Amino acid sequence: MQAELAEQAVVLLGILGLLVGSFLNVVIYRLPKMMERQWAAECAQAAGNSLPDAEPFNLLVPRSSCPHCAASIAWYDNVPVFSYALLGGRCRQCQAPIALRYPAVELCSALLFAFCGWRWGLGAAAFAWCAWMAGMLSLALIDWDSTLLPDAIVLPLLWLGLIGANLQWTGVTLEHALWGAVVGYLSLWSVYWVFKLVTGKEGMGYGDFKLLACLGAWLGWQALVPIILMSSVIGALVGIALKFNQGLREGGVMPFGPFLVGAGLACVFANAAGFKLLVP
Ligand SMILES: [Zn+2]
Repeated sequence: MQAELAEQAVVLLGILGLLVGSFLNVVIYRLPKMMERQWAAECAQAAGNSLPDAEPFNLLVPRSSCPHCAASIAWYDNVPVFSYALLGGRCRQCQAPIALRYPAVELCSALLFAFCGWRWGLGAAAFAWCAWMAGMLSLALIDWDSTLLPDAIVLPLLWLGLIGANLQWTGVTLEHALWGAVVGYLSLWSVYWVFKLVTGKEGMGYGDFKLLACLGAWLGWQALVPIILMSSVIGALVGIALKFNQGLREGGVMPFGPFLVGAGLACVFANAAGFKLLVP
């Protein structure tokens, strides 16, 4: 009976993850563009210019279309993963290749949600963790693409982490979660200021502080040291590899968020595998 319920949770949340993953593709692509549009509008307003009324652009409008031929995508060509496979990875209208990232994000999301079903069953805790997984996946890719970590995703998840601790969804006490958030924010904030005072450069952004605060809220302050160690070592290695391959973007900037997210996920998986070193 118990095993059957667990199986149901894995399958149901896996399917939910596929559907949510399809929406995450939209969020990852559009949210940074929405932020840039809003900044442009605010700048223009501050300068006393009025921008011409732009076409509405948000997470729901306009409908998804092929970036190559602009043909809008029918619902039956928008079924997560399956449509990509059936279409052979090409647009139905113009045969332009569809980025492999879309089905990859859907599949990742499905696997992460299925993991939540396996770990937490079908209750409130599982859904809270699914929201966290969806947020983390989006943040990693948005930061990688645009070096932005939208508050619209990080801050609600930070609050949800504290609420989840209080409601015993996250397995972390409220005290550990609270200090995880505070120390997570302040640790990177102090590194930022020391680095800025010594070198005059900005090594990371405020988004990184908030993201680590969010991870601390979900995983407790005990996870902060492993997260910082893992993310800086792997981040540095990837940075060096990209530098040698001329893969760094202009100004030699590399986002730190994807590495924080990766380390946070590693902690969740390590906890699930029973490594008690992370949560004393
Ligand atoms: Zn097309």
